[in-house]
Amino acid sequence: QADIAMYQAKTAGRNTLRFFDPEMQANLATRANLEAALRASITGKKFVLHYQAQIDGQHGIIGAEALLRWRHPEGGMVPPGEFIPLAEDTGLIVPIGQWVLESACEQLADWARDPRKRHLLLAVNVSVRQFRQPDFVASVHQALTRAGAPATQLKLELTESLVLDDIDDSIDKMRTLKELGVGFSMDDFGTGYSSLSYLTRLPLDQLKIDQSFIRNLPDSASDAVVVQTIITLARSLGLSVIAEGVETEAQRSFLARYGCPTYQGYLFSKPIELAAFEALLPLD
Ligand code: C2E
Ligand code: MG
Ligand code: MG
Ligand code: MG
Repeated sequence: QADIAMYQAKTAGRNTLRFFDPEMQANLATRANLEAALRASITGKKFVLHYQAQIDGQHGIIGAEALLRWRHPEGGMVPPGEFIPLAEDTGLIVPIGQWVLESACEQLADWARDPRKRHLLLAVNVSVRQFRQPDFVASVHQALTRAGAPATQLKLELTESLVLDDIDDSIDKMRTLKELGVGFSMDDFGTGYSSLSYLTRLPLDQLKIDQSFIRNLPDSASDAVVVQTIITLARSLGLSVIAEGVETEAQRSFLARYGCPTYQGYLFSKPIELAAFEALLPLD
């Protein structure tokens, strides 16, 4: 209860202290219900992964990003934006994130047994609280070995703020995982810190251009410059680059023209259930 009250106080509004506010009281009940429901869902198979295709201009579907969905006890699929912040604040993100990792590794092991699917990469989002766990590296290793999944097909998506929150710990963990074969993509790239010096210190494989820079392409001259700069930066650092939130053919062709050959977005597919994603794969 105390935790939730703190959460409420923090989110009620910056520098605002409110007591006996009926609206806040109602909100508090909702939060508590939500937390209880989330907690019960970890053991109750109420989470599911959806898969959004990642497309390469030459090779078609090269993999997917796993995106978490929560089947709310009272019906409906809840998108992560509505429960991840609370899961972060309460620490529930740690067991939830562990479930995501284990499920993703089981999926990769399944794909590895099928010649038509063993080339697929699976990208998994990692939250800061999960990454900072002292046993994070061991838990990824264990998820891979228990499932029998090839580490080289697993890609972890980290954000700039996650990495920079403790750069030495980040480098340490990334290096160890990289030795196992795990890849790293910098999610939402361009929205975080402008200092780029840290980039050369990280064992990254990919920059993922944030969808906010893609949205107004090709019309926005300033976004076009940012996108071109990120593509050039990736190339200079020897990293691959992917654009997220690609919705139109005009955006795709702009990106292709400036040297970004890999895309994710509604133009190709929304995040969908496993069977629907696998149905997108070519038959031979
Ligand atoms: P993200 O990792 O940046 O994921 C991309 C988000 O953009 C997804 O939202 C996806 O559905 C959406 N998206 C993809 N293509 C398009 C497009 O063409 N247009 C538009 N408008 N949107 C597009 P989603 O699934 O709601 O996820 C939101 C965020 O929640 C993710 O952002 C990620 O930060 C977080 N998240 C999702 N799954 C997990 C997870 O398993 N663990 C953790 N820690 N975070 C997760
Ligand atoms: Mg992501
Ligand atoms: Mg992203
Ligand atoms: Mg994003």
